[in-house]
Amino acid sequence: MTAPARAHGSQELIRAEEPVLAHNYHPLPVVVARAEGAWVEDVEGRRYLDMLAGYSALNFGHRHPALVDAAHRQLDRLTLTSRAFHHDRLAGFAERLAALTGTDMVLPMNTGAEAVESGIKVARKWAYDVKGVPADRATIVVAADNFHGRTTTIVGFSTDETARAGFGPFTPGFRVVPYNDLAALEEAVDETTAAVLIEPIQGEAGVLIPDDGYLAGVRELTRRAGCLFVADEIQSGLGRTGHTLAVEHESVVPDVVLLGKALGGGIVPVSAVVGSREVLGVLRPGEHGSTFGGNPLAAAVGTEVVELLETGEFQRRAAELGTVLREGLAALVGRGVVGFRARGLWAGVDVDPALGSGRGISERLMREGVLVKDTHGSTIRLAPPLTVTGEELRGALGTLEKVLTS
Ligand SMILES: *Cc1c(COP(=O)(O)O)cnc(C)c1O
Repeated sequence: MTAPARAHGSQELIRAEEPVLAHNYHPLPVVVARAEGAWVEDVEGRRYLDMLAGYSALNFGHRHPALVDAAHRQLDRLTLTSRAFHHDRLAGFAERLAALTGTDMVLPMNTGAEAVESGIKVARKWAYDVKGVPADRATIVVAADNFHGRTTTIVGFSTDETARAGFGPFTPGFRVVPYNDLAALEEAVDETTAAVLIEPIQGEAGVLIPDDGYLAGVRELTRRAGCLFVADEIQSGLGRTGHTLAVEHESVVPDVVLLGKALGGGIVPVSAVVGSREVLGVLRPGEHGSTFGGNPLAAAVGTEVVELLETGEFQRRAAELGTVLREGLAALVGRGVVGFRARGLWAGVDVDPALGSGRGISERLMREGVLVKDTHGSTIRLAPPLTVTGEELRGALGTLEKVLTS
């Protein structure tokens, strides 16, 4: 598959980044130049199956024709107004997103971290205005090993020292309890609690899936305690797990859901806080905002994303192909895989540490034409676009088998 080196080959481009680009990432040594569907191509013309899909930002694959089309049409008409004025794409987007997620109201933002920050602000405001928590006393209970983004407030309640160290002082008002532990949650919630903020499945932590009953338990507990259940579905939502939202696995309806990543169709950053009128209704003009939040281009792409999800086709694909993924991984247990967790088209795979680090395995998979990302230690994460075919998925599992057993 090696094509002749070009003037700007991979190695040259990687070296060119070194002196000018902040070193806050350690990418695999692949330089992508184009992509379509589940496949990306590097500057030398080598093709790779994308089994990461931009951490679920590419749930519909690269350059899905309906999404690219929606973006092109909007680019030719109107791209930005700011929220100083109304524009003709926002009402439709909000209406359809609310309907898709079974909620009343939408607060449009751009990045995931911004949606989380917005969710925190709304929960606090609700605690003071509706619940009657004394000023500046509101607490939010979060889970250990969480990943909610990278702002100073958010890393302040992270338990990952790499994410936290050197960035204090941090915002007070957060309590951390173990994930998947209802007793600990019960203990931490009191009359100051505005919200419990958790991921229905902890993606960055290694696709940690809580026991059945945990999410329903969080719902029951928060209702009883009179605080909000805020679900961060930025990575787990929008089809990935075989449902529109991962909380549907337990038929749970949170008060507030945070969306991002796939909401932008892999084209533009689009995020949103969706929730009940009682909660999102607490915001008054000027109290919160974002220049680009809900801009016409974002709304056009986001509307198309919602339209793709309205048919249920992608959720069904994720559920069906999820069976292929689980069966393929189960066959590798004891043959290089020590354990895995999977739901829908999403898996965390613990590789035998004797075979190498997650990074080492990822590099070997890359050389075999499959792109994945490691998480902690010897865990790799698989999250292909929901457009991947069964054949492509089996091919990737075959490559994983080859890398682990050769
Ligand atoms: C990616 C992610 C975020 C942050 O999103 P950004 O767009 O990177 O700011 C927050 N929560 C979860 C669960 C995520 O996976």
